Amino acid sequence: MKQKSAIICVISLLLTVCTFNVHGQGDTAIVIEYLGNQRVEFGINGHFTEEVAYHALGKHGEYFFTTPGDWTEEFMQQLIAVSEDAIKFAKDWLGYDGGELIRVFYGNVEVNPPTNPDSIMQTMFGIGMASHGEFFITAPKEDMPVIIVHEAVHAILRLQGRKSNFPTDNLQWLEEGLCNVIDYLFFLETEHIYDTRRYGTSRENMEAFLHVRAWQREALRLRVEPDCPLQRLHSHDTAASFVFYLLEHKGTKDDFMRFFDDVTLAEEIYGMTMIDMIAEWLEYIEQYRRRGLGTRNIPAARNDAARDAATDITTLISE
Ligand SMILES: [Zn+2]
Repeated sequence: MKQKSAIICVISLLLTVCTFNVHGQGDTAIVIEYLGNQRVEFGINGHFTEEVAYHALGKHGEYFFTTPGDWTEEFMQQLIAVSEDAIKFAKDWLGYDGGELIRVFYGNVEVNPPTNPDSIMQTMFGIGMASHGEFFITAPKEDMPVIIVHEAVHAILRLQGRKSNFPTDNLQWLEEGLCNVIDYLFFLETEHIYDTRRYGTSRENMEAFLHVRAWQREALRLRVEPDCPLQRLHSHDTAASFVFYLLEHKGTKDDFMRFFDDVTLAEEIYGMTMIDMIAEWLEYIEQYRRRGLGTRNIPAARNDAARDAATDITTLISE
């Protein structure tokens, strides 16, 4: 799930096509090429070699899959269909009309045992990385299509040359929050089955996840690492809670994107300093919880832990 600035490039890809299958996807025919386990080199924080078994070309993305394992062709077609819609959604939301195809690498995690024990994509559990116009996700079948929109947003932001400067160029709190929010918005609109395990089945569930449950999960995790407040600030979910609050209550999408590009414009755009906006947002969450929204079945101790995390964020940002 951690996004790192990464360079992904295919150095050699032998497009030896063994067979063709054509499937209707609405008006778009998706063709899967069987590459016959070609070795493909990627450069992500160094180099490793990966086997690519399948390749498919869509309207919005170009898809590469590692060795099939229990990923049936039907499953891959479903994943491509979700991805096409997800990438289109992210492009539309961000106003990207460069028309460039996003390159996507899907790693099939097979824990028991991997078909290729040397494969990073098969053995690393549930991660995503993105760079300019491309991303890769490796996850178990039952978790897919997790974080597709999230990583697509990173990849498109890079294409747009956008990078948030809050809190620093390297600690992308606002960007991670934006990636998650667009992911949530896709969940609300899509007809695909999309991450209901996290977000529930309704907008109310999703907001409760965003403003309450995700915080409590973070608070518990961070109790294990109490000396690491930067981890807390870097939480994708707390960032998403803040970004969603701004989008819903403080201004337009265009306002937010201007703010995203340069947070020093906070007062000009929102008429408030960053510190004051964060204080207001934390108060909103407090009120949300007081109204009892999303807090059913959550022990009081976890609410306290979440409140502590909120306090830490304010302290950290005002330092
Ligand atoms: Zn990310």
